[in-house]
Amino acid sequence: MKTAGRGPASREDRAMKIGFIGLGNMGAPMAANLAKAGHEVTGFDVAGVSVDGVAPAGSAPEAASGADVVITMLPNGDILRVVAAEVVPAMQAGAVLCDCSTVDVESAQAAAAMAAAAGVGALDAPVSGGTGGAAGGTLTFMVGGDEASFAKVKPLFDIMGQKAVHCGAAGAGQSAKICNNMILGISMIAVCEGFNLADRLGLSREAMFDVVSTSSGSCWSINTYCPAPGVGPTSPADNDYKPGFAAELMLKDLKLSQQAADAAGAATPMGAAATALYDAFVAEGGQGKDFSAMLLRLAEMSKG
Ligand code: NAD
Repeated sequence: MKTAGRGPASREDRAMKIGFIGLGNMGAPMAANLAKAGHEVTGFDVAGVSVDGVAPAGSAPEAASGADVVITMLPNGDILRVVAAEVVPAMQAGAVLCDCSTVDVESAQAAAAMAAAAGVGALDAPVSGGTGGAAGGTLTFMVGGDEASFAKVKPLFDIMGQKAVHCGAAGAGQSAKICNNMILGISMIAVCEGFNLADRLGLSREAMFDVVSTSSGSCWSINTYCPAPGVGPTSPADNDYKPGFAAELMLKDLKLSQQAADAAGAATPMGAAATALYDAFVAEGGQGKDFSAMLLRLAEMSKG
């Protein structure tokens, strides 16, 4: 019982009862993969979505009642707090509330505290890998929470993803996600600035890619997800910057990084600059484009 498309749950891996709340772009394929692997999944979404193999519930508490694990995949921390307050009282003792949304660290910790007060386990388990990873069962989970809850949900992470890293106590998963995506936002801008300067200096993009991708400037943003079309591996740049990872989702994560940096008193001047650049980009035409389209934005911002 591992990834999408595998057969039903084996006898060693007991089929679990799973409540799945938030069946959007990410949640729907994740829930479908759990059902396909032989688990008994009951789902709820305020939008009334229906998902193959997932039994529809009339409310979030109905989906949570009697479940071994309740998974949430929601837009933000405020909604997570509301949903957690609804579902925790409906959960059985010993069950685990596993939030896979990307939210602020405080909301993750607030959901964990609600669960602990009710004798329910909790994990914050945001993902990387996007909708392709959700459909293919190849997500990476960054997980905060207690060891016993992690061990209980691990077989489900193994179906929905290819890697689950237990990062520490409640909030640690969100902390890891926020730090990673702040680095990603900054490094994408840095690579785009490099290409923009190279263009202005008359350096070919091919030469720029060949040198940097094998030199000390190499990083995921250029080697794997090159923002310049026609060079390097195929990336959203080669598909008219269709996301991929949309600029507005990068902005959401950068804002969470700045909220966390403020709360923790951490100096993140490059994170702040990246947030401001994506904020302006999203407000002025970047919405719905891949975050690597920052290259087009920088070209527009350049003189002459
Ligand atoms: P989405 O907007 O497609 O899905 C969210 C779903 O939650 C919607 O279907 C909505 O109707 C539902 N919902 C809202 N309030 C609800 C409530 N009170 N009860 C039940 N359902 C409710 O978003 P998504 O792209 O699936 O992203 C979900 C989370 O995953 C977000 O936190 C996002 O930041 C994170 N994430 C997304 C991606 C991506 O590429 N889309 C990648 C990594 C992480």
